[in-house]
Amino acid sequence: MRPDPSLADLPLRPELVGEEPYGAPQLPDVVLLNTNENPYPPSEAIIADMARAVAQAAAGVNRYPDREAVVLRTALAAYLGHGLDASRVWAANGSNEVMTHVLGAFAGPGRTVLTFSPTYSMYPEYARNTHSGYVVVPRRPDYAIDPAEALAAIAEHQPSVVIITTPNNPTGTTTALEVTREIVAGTDAIVVVDEAYQEFSRTPEQTALTLLGEFGNLVVARTMSKAFALAGGRVGYLAAAPAIVDACRIVRLPYHLSAQTQALALVALAHAPEMLAQVDLLRQVRNDLLRRLPELGVEVVASDANFCLFGRFADRHDVWQRILARGVLVREVGPPGWLRVSVGTPEQTEQFYDALAGALEGIR
Ligand code: PMP
Repeated sequence: MRPDPSLADLPLRPELVGEEPYGAPQLPDVVLLNTNENPYPPSEAIIADMARAVAQAAAGVNRYPDREAVVLRTALAAYLGHGLDASRVWAANGSNEVMTHVLGAFAGPGRTVLTFSPTYSMYPEYARNTHSGYVVVPRRPDYAIDPAEALAAIAEHQPSVVIITTPNNPTGTTTALEVTREIVAGTDAIVVVDEAYQEFSRTPEQTALTLLGEFGNLVVARTMSKAFALAGGRVGYLAAAPAIVDACRIVRLPYHLSAQTQALALVALAHAPEMLAQVDLLRQVRNDLLRRLPELGVEVVASDANFCLFGRFADRHDVWQRILARGVLVREVGPPGWLRVSVGTPEQTEQFYDALAGALEGIR
């Protein structure tokens, strides 16, 4: 083969032909409200602790890191509470990788992953990458999941993995614990409740963690990327029965979590109250969005996350572009006509209101 072949010259898997890599734009010099990050960096004191911990890890970097990340999993279990210990917690590079482990272990060729649309845009990619089938069941118009419809779809499609996202991305809506219970109780499939945004909920204590003692097929997935303000550290985790953790250990790459990653996450967990200190403020800014967006003449979906879906626009790409032209990057995602804005600092969110008002002036 000639040097520098094109993709078409290479034996790419047929299902990857024409696929684009996942990517929300990462633009310089704009207000970034497009990937649901926490806008607050850690304090100087925590940064100094992180630097010390990374330096310490560097002193042993000739050795592989703890393959089982036991110290980190123990700290994550302590953070979650609910009587969990390291045997019931698994961690990886973002909940993206945790989910890939779950699908690698429990889905795969000839098997199906079922979830409820609209939902997180990465799920079909996890399914594709693990050679799994992917089926979506539409949510109700208010984006709630109908448990009877869910169970009927599970009976029809026989998925080996079901994903319930609550609060859901991109809608921000929650699934009541009773609905989750009904679905988990009605199937032997692995049911993953993706609680990436749980800490932002008005009722964070209504977590599927409370159901773990009852259901051996339940997985609760979490991330340190959002409320914990550690998106750059890349740590996600799950809580489940020890056998499910063991299954993830079979499919993970050896030494998947670097020593530096483990060290950073441990420092963040040791400072959990401080790392999470801005969550209340972000909730308030979110609640302001729910109140102020209708005042600007746009609809907004009731959100329990650190983002809001707003619309509806005849040409959402045009509105997205007009907002960006005013220095604010939001996300063009979700059902047609809607855009999603992440909750920023109060100042960033004011910039968003101004940008949106300016963008709409030319249209209405
Ligand atoms: N689940 C949901 C619903 C998400 O929105 C995201 C991030 N946008 C993730 C999982 C993945 O987060 P991470 O890999 O950063 O932990």
